Amino acid sequence: MAKIDLKTLKIEAEKDIEKANNLNDLDTVFKKYLGKKGEITLILRSLKDLSEKERKKTGKQANELKKFLEEKIKQRKPGFVKFSTDKEFDVSVPVQKLKVGHLHPLTLVRREIEGIFEAMGFSVISGPEIENEWYNFDALNIPANHPARDIWDTFYLKNKLLLRTHTSPVQIRFMEKNNPPFRIVVPGRIFRHEATDASHEINFYQVEGLMVGKDISAANFKAIIQEFLSRFFNKKIKIRLRPSFFPFVEPGFEVDASCTVCQGKGCSVCSKTGWLELMGAGMVHPNVLKAGGINPNNWQGFAFGVGMDRLAMMKYKIDDIRLFYNGDLRFLNQF
Ligand SMILES: [Zn+2]
Repeated sequence: MAKIDLKTLKIEAEKDIEKANNLNDLDTVFKKYLGKKGEITLILRSLKDLSEKERKKTGKQANELKKFLEEKIKQRKPGFVKFSTDKEFDVSVPVQKLKVGHLHPLTLVRREIEGIFEAMGFSVISGPEIENEWYNFDALNIPANHPARDIWDTFYLKNKLLLRTHTSPVQIRFMEKNNPPFRIVVPGRIFRHEATDASHEINFYQVEGLMVGKDISAANFKAIIQEFLSRFFNKKIKIRLRPSFFPFVEPGFEVDASCTVCQGKGCSVCSKTGWLELMGAGMVHPNVLKAGGINPNNWQGFAFGVGMDRLAMMKYKIDDIRLFYNGDLRFLNQF
């Protein structure tokens, strides 16, 4: 057989190890020389065919080379460990972006609403989601036998507690502790016992407002709400008031806003009327002021309540309220 040139083999192997660019290359080099059918392995196996003198000499050299290469390969490994992927490491590939969370659309809307009212001198107030009947109904001029309780059916808990159906109880709690004049907005989660569909949920978010002073009138309400809506929708919004009944206000009105899609010209969103129903409002009922410890002969004011979900749906053109609550990332990632 041809003379075994271990010196040349050593030089070749060292070059191969040097050229290796990743763990795969290194593995290939290992197989080429030290694997089952590797060149050095084959030499060691063929020793039996050699004369005793040759066998001793070549065997010793081949074993030394084997150890030498094993050590060399071991030394190169750590440099590649970080990039031990199937693919070759390519420094030009952009790094994988870290996934960070972001704010829920309802949170974005709440913060924006709060900011607009704060700029107009309102304080942001919050209160408990679990209420008792007094704060949720009686104090708001809805006594136990009043049919209006049907409109606000809710979840009743033990000890005569319930999940609040509006954030109005916070208005009473605030009036108990503060003297007029004041202006507050109360954003928060509220609950209704009803079937869900594209426009109804068992819980949603509301923002209520209350402004009380010596001579606060419906004209103040109109100016403030028109300004709020125009800032919120980033376009001139007109409103109109229609007489309506809510137990906690007198007089009460429904507030319509000029359609945000067609600007009042009439389109499918507003059923060709040019107006969109938006919120309930009115002048605070004297009984409500009394329940909050305020003398209705000295003070008067307006109150309103609007669904934050509704405002968000109008702003972002969302057609199903349930999207806010089902955690679908295809929806949430758009914000
Ligand atoms: Zn329209």
